[in-house]
This record gives sequence, structure tokens and C-alpha cells, in this order.
Amino acid sequence: MVKNLIIFTDLDGTLLNFKTFEFRSILPFIEDLKNRGIKIIPSSSKCFSEIEHIVKDIGLNGPFIVENGSAIYIPKNAIKQIPINAMEEGEYWVLKLGTEREIINKKIRQKDFKDYMRFILFLKNMTKLQQSYYTGLKSDSLNRSLDRKYGEPFIWMGSKEYLDEFKKSLNEEGLSIFSGARLMHLTGLNSKGDAMRELLNDHGFQNIINVDSLEDITTIACGDSENDLSMLEIADYAVVLRLPGKNTLKLKRKSNSFNSIKVAPEGWKETLLEIDLIKKILDT
Ligand SMILES: [Mg+2]
Repeated sequence: MVKNLIIFTDLDGTLLNFKTFEFRSILPFIEDLKNRGIKIIPSSSKCFSEIEHIVKDIGLNGPFIVENGSAIYIPKNAIKQIPINAMEEGEYWVLKLGTEREIINKKIRQKDFKDYMRFILFLKNMTKLQQSYYTGLKSDSLNRSLDRKYGEPFIWMGSKEYLDEFKKSLNEEGLSIFSGARLMHLTGLNSKGDAMRELLNDHGFQNIINVDSLEDITTIACGDSENDLSMLEIADYAVVLRLPGKNTLKLKRKSNSFNSIKVAPEGWKETLLEIDLIKKILDT
């Protein structure tokens, strides 16, 4: 019997094309997966406003993970049991895991970080033209991307060695830096892997998918960048997307790991179809 299958997927460069953010060519495949009861849970460094917009466009109606594991949004109508520790926010129950933006900003104003700050250009302080250049986004999409609650995107203008030193001192303050496909992000110590674990352990969520224990769930994680490693290493199957012009992400795990040949979005479909379990479910 095929167990409950959940796909945790990054968006940029994984489900969405890195340059054009296109996904429409694989919509029929996504429909097929949904119709067979496979859950697709986006997990991105994008913020709530951006992911909600994309999720509605794709036609997904389940939970999603925002800002690199900082919070999990579960639509109220998708769940009978209120998740433990959930906060109410509009149409959603929210599990907050990350450090709030105000706290991050307060922490980095300390004098210990003053020297590092000279090499940082925060996205929020750029001109609209620069913001558009560095994010690859325009108008409404750009505005949505600025509506973040758990981190500050930035570009680093110093050396790699100095950045490593900065990362170390941030860790001591409960902060970290992760590299997305385009920008770096200053955040708390949250990760996509931790958020994935949190959601799977939530009884309210287990209720949505009608399972009594984690044993009944099979997971697939899909990603393309360093910040996806935490979920790629712990899922039952890992799908790694190739990014144009970059070396394919290397995983520690050896088993049940699949690399795409094509880029997103086609690479997402192509590689998932290499997994026997997916083939089996789609063939029934
Ligand atoms: Mg990505």
C-alpha cells in the first residue's frame, strides 16, 4: 500500500524557473499529483504575501512554510484541530518558529556588529531600481517581497573570510545568515528542516492527512540551494534541482537522492517522475 506522500518543495529555482518564475508548463502534472492525494507543501525563503499569491495561482490549498522555516501557515478550512501554540492570522493558523524582524534589527545594532555593517547593503535601503535588479522582481511582486516579518535580505560587499567571521559572531547572538539563490538573509536560527519536522509532528496536521503517526507518512523534499539542505537531508527522498551556471548542490546522504537534468519547472516534474513511488501512485 502506498503511504501518505508529502512533497516539501522550495519555490525559486525548484518549482519556479529561476529567471522567469514560470511554472505553468507543469500545472497538469501538479493536478495529477493532487488528484492522487499527494500533498505539496511549499517551503521557501519568500515571505507570506509572496507565497500566498503563488500558492493560490498554482491551486494549492494546504499549509505552506515561509521565510526559510520562520513560520508555518495552515489554512483554517484545511484543519479541524487547532495546532498547539498556533496564532490566528486572518484565514490561517500560524506556527511561529523564527525570530521577528524587529528583534533581529535590534540585535544587529549592537556595537560588536558595527564593522560588519559597512559591508552590508540591506534590500530595504536600496532604491526601487536596485531592489528590482537584485530580486529580479517588479511592481506588485517586488512590493510583496518586501513585506517580511522574520528577516532582512541583503547583499554582502566584503570578503568571504570576513563574512564567515560575521556569521560566527551572529550565531552567538542567536542569529544566522543563509544564502538564497539571489540574496543573503539575516535571520534567527530557523531552518526549513526544523519547520518540516514541526509540521509533521503537529497533530492538527496529522489530522488533515488522516494519519495517526509519522510512520504512516513518506516525505520527499525538493530544493536547489544551500538553505534547502536541512530538509533535503531528512526527507525520505531528496530531489535536487540544477541551477543554471552553478554547481549542483551536494548532499551527504547517498540513498534515495535524485538530481535533475533539466532546470525548473520541467526539472521538478522530470525528477519526481524518476521516483518509483510517484510512478506507482500515478499509474494506479
Ligand atoms: Mg531555491
